[in-house]
Amino acid sequence: EVRVRFAPSPTGFLHLGGLRTALYNYIFAKKYGGVFVLRLEDTDQSRLVPGAAESIEDMLEWAGIPPDESPRQGGPLGPYLQSQRLDLYTQTAQQLVEHGHAYYCFCSPQRLEVLKKEALRAGQTPRYDNRCRHLRPDQVQEKQAQGASHVIRFRLEAGVEPFHDLVFGWSRHEVAQVEGDPVVIKADGFPTYHLANVIDDHYMKISHVLRGSEWLISTSKHLLMYRALGWQPPTFGHLPLLMNKDGSKLSKRQGDIFIQSFQRDGVLPEALLDITTNCGSGFNTNRMGRRIDELVSEFNPSKITTHSALLDLEKLPEFNRIHLQRQIEDEQKCCLLIKDLQQQIQNVYAAEIQDDEVLREAYIKRVLHLRKGHISSLQELVSPTYSYLWVRPSLCSQQVAALTEEACLIASLVQKLRGEELSVDQLSKDLKTLAKQTKATKYREVMKLLRLVLSGLQQGPSVAEMMVSLGPAEVRHRFQKLLQ
Ligand code: GLU
Repeated sequence: EVRVRFAPSPTGFLHLGGLRTALYNYIFAKKYGGVFVLRLEDTDQSRLVPGAAESIEDMLEWAGIPPDESPRQGGPLGPYLQSQRLDLYTQTAQQLVEHGHAYYCFCSPQRLEVLKKEALRAGQTPRYDNRCRHLRPDQVQEKQAQGASHVIRFRLEAGVEPFHDLVFGWSRHEVAQVEGDPVVIKADGFPTYHLANVIDDHYMKISHVLRGSEWLISTSKHLLMYRALGWQPPTFGHLPLLMNKDGSKLSKRQGDIFIQSFQRDGVLPEALLDITTNCGSGFNTNRMGRRIDELVSEFNPSKITTHSALLDLEKLPEFNRIHLQRQIEDEQKCCLLIKDLQQQIQNVYAAEIQDDEVLREAYIKRVLHLRKGHISSLQELVSPTYSYLWVRPSLCSQQVAALTEEACLIASLVQKLRGEELSVDQLSKDLKTLAKQTKATKYREVMKLLRLVLSGLQQGPSVAEMMVSLGPAEVRHRFQKLLQ
């Protein structure tokens, strides 16, 4: 059975890099009829950020890639919060100690500090010198009896075997040559990432570990732990990094890569998933406008390359526009958009609305269908550019007086049109014909004046579109001013 997991630490809120890792895991699970697990790695108690744990799961749900098993969902192999699994880690560490794969270390922080300084002075990378490996059992007992503070370290053996990574191919890192024995249980009794991660992946029956490529060099260490515990390791696949377009690190330059801020700015989750997969690899084709079901069917893990994915967030509005259009064209989704927009209109324009007609579903729906493909967020529709849709423009008497006679004539003719039943195309033709019937010199000039009366704007959608969206009654109302 395919079981994959996303295992973030709740030391911060979910950002785009994390969402992408979760997304590949989700897609992988759906593609192979597997299970997608969310496990929160909260063992570094000093770095926990309040609210981050709940928010991570909220954001996965918002994005439309909810986990099948998680702290909130529960599941057969939980708990899914590492802080609730401490006994398991202590017992396993104990087992490692008994079999000689791990040992108690009583080195004081001061001693480690001295080692570190010496190494730095000699221009070397600091590493633990494995001194406590050589303590005799009676020495250990004595120290324990004294209640000396200790950690448990894993004995790194030389001679790691190469492993086959789904993305990077054959890899191997002689960890024992570059690192001292790593701490697996800290002085506070909490495990460190490496041990807890291995234990959980084993007990949660994870078949494939898909995670960021920054973990590739740790994998040999994890495999040594699997070997020491006599467990079958999962298959590993390390995903290339997600970077800015210019190759800089994502979190460094972009402050706003948190999923919550995209949500707040009206970015559609579909657009976010689409852009993060489009800049990466792993799909049979690359095209814009894919929804999650299409991403799943086009996914092909053998196409994931080792190149970093370069993200161009300037293209996000374009992705959003395409997905917004798809949603407007989907009857059910459109209903939700209408409700959302109703709320936004009320929030922004409540006091100024003269006619409740603008809050009606049919009116909003017509506006959405006319503007789809032009707008990249719903918010845009409540910005000043589109205020004419919700409140009548206020023209001063001078502006009205400056309108030409021709415009008045056209206005009177326009009043006879039955806008609602007309298409924008038909209405444009009719307006042209009307303009010819008047003495108007320039069609464009006349249209400018009509646009001003309808919307108070100098530029914007075509007059015909404005008329169709406003509807005949409102159009008549707005032209009334000219004819008085
Ligand atoms: N807790 C680790 C992280 O925050 C998980 C790494 C892994 O997937 O093994 O990235």
